Amino acid sequence: MRNRQTISNALKTESLNIIFASSEALPYVKTGGLADVGAALPAALRRKNLSVTSFLPLYSQINQAKHFIKPVGKEISVPISDRHEIAQLYQAEHEGVTTYFIAHDHYFNRPGLYGTQEGDYPDNAERFIFFSRAVLEGAKALGLKPDVVHCHDWHTGLIPLYLKTAYAADFPNVASLFTIHNLGYQGLFWHLDWHLLNLSWDYFNFRGLEFHGNINFLKGGLYYADLLSTVSVKYAKEIQTPAFGHQLDGVLRDRTADLHGILNGLDTIEWNPGSDPHIAATYDITDLGGKQACKAALQKEFALPVVKKRPLFAIITRLVEQKGLRLVAGILEKLLSGPVQVVVLGTGEKEYENSLQGFAAQYPDKMAVRIAYDSNLAHRIEAGADIFLMPSQYEPCGLNQMMSLRYGTVPIVRATGGLDDTVKTFSRKTGRGNGFKFKAYTEAALLKQINKARVLFEDKPGWRTLMKNGMDGDYSWDRSSKAYIKHYQQLKKIMQEKR
Ligand code: ADP
Repeated sequence: MRNRQTISNALKTESLNIIFASSEALPYVKTGGLADVGAALPAALRRKNLSVTSFLPLYSQINQAKHFIKPVGKEISVPISDRHEIAQLYQAEHEGVTTYFIAHDHYFNRPGLYGTQEGDYPDNAERFIFFSRAVLEGAKALGLKPDVVHCHDWHTGLIPLYLKTAYAADFPNVASLFTIHNLGYQGLFWHLDWHLLNLSWDYFNFRGLEFHGNINFLKGGLYYADLLSTVSVKYAKEIQTPAFGHQLDGVLRDRTADLHGILNGLDTIEWNPGSDPHIAATYDITDLGGKQACKAALQKEFALPVVKKRPLFAIITRLVEQKGLRLVAGILEKLLSGPVQVVVLGTGEKEYENSLQGFAAQYPDKMAVRIAYDSNLAHRIEAGADIFLMPSQYEPCGLNQMMSLRYGTVPIVRATGGLDDTVKTFSRKTGRGNGFKFKAYTEAALLKQINKARVLFEDKPGWRTLMKNGMDGDYSWDRSSKAYIKHYQQLKKIMQEKR
């Protein structure tokens, strides 16, 4: 009986064909957590026997030789306004997932993915209308027969609408799932870009793409996708309230029955202190010895005094208000007046870059800052630090707190979104919990948790319990990918019943 059930489940998942449309994915290109998900979720689905095909823009930042990216020998013609743009398809394989790349030099051969230090590219509407349609034109040209097109964030928010309009005949009964990774980034463009879409003005209304007189790509996903998900259970609730809804909470309340929170996982092979090739010494829950070597190596790398006793705080982030940088800037003076060390890795807004560098100059033996995007260094910091600060204003899921937990680096987080779902306050009495968290978005609330952590840091057995509690957690995609499969199956069934 058991066997038969396993076989029938396997057959069910094998017959699911998913197209994954996202604007970035590892190992090819990454600016944030979206790229981690864009790689790890398809790979996890493949391991469960689904057929997954991904689409990405062929940005000039992608190293074609390194990833064995080859032309497919197929050309697609993508309608934009009153003309057609021609693009070439390229292809590569990674962990059983085929990724097709859309090559178009004018749109994707640029110094940044979305813009430069001066701001977003002024033609981002055109670039991502093009990409969204190119995914569907590409799928058509390749003869793909998806059950579900899984779209991610505003860059692909138009695909659910195109599936119901211009491509309805090409893809009858194909469902769409739209995942919100961050509601704060919506793809807002002025109405004069409408002609680029080749859609009737009927869709430019309150119950469509219109948003305060502008075009909102994300809203396309929210209205027209057959099912919605976001990256934690708490964030799914938060975004239906005005405080977190970025003025789209009403739309999300309208769709509350179709909106599901599914926590992201980590790539647990890439982020494994037991086998990480980037760190000074490997370690695991049964033998934490290597972590001290990682701390010493990190202190050396950042030219900080190599001392065991001082708690080493770390931050790895985009330096933007969302990540709680205002709070961090506000408490640093007080934090640095004590016996601590702080390392920061990040890039972002000039104001924060300058203020952090100012503190590092003022306290050279306590604080060091690297203004850079450096994935290998992120591994070394996760392994070498004692405490990770993540006081985000809002955090859809957050990956760094999970990486920290896995590396025995204790997170101090604000109780919001995925941070609230993954971090449980440590209790000395019960020995349960894996970090520290606070509710109010204030410097005082953050400082209070920092002080609690500093006190516990002195209690070595207590601290070790706390570290191990974190390292013991399951942060893999296994559980979350099952939740996605359930929704794909549900969508396929609904579509079959419609036939
Ligand atoms: P978000 O996607 O909002 O930026 P997440 O926590 O979901 O936040 O994911 C951020 C990802 O980007 C993590 O993998 C983090 O380690 C990485 N990251 C952010 N900034 C840097 C940086 N400067 N250098 C290296 N990795 C970074």
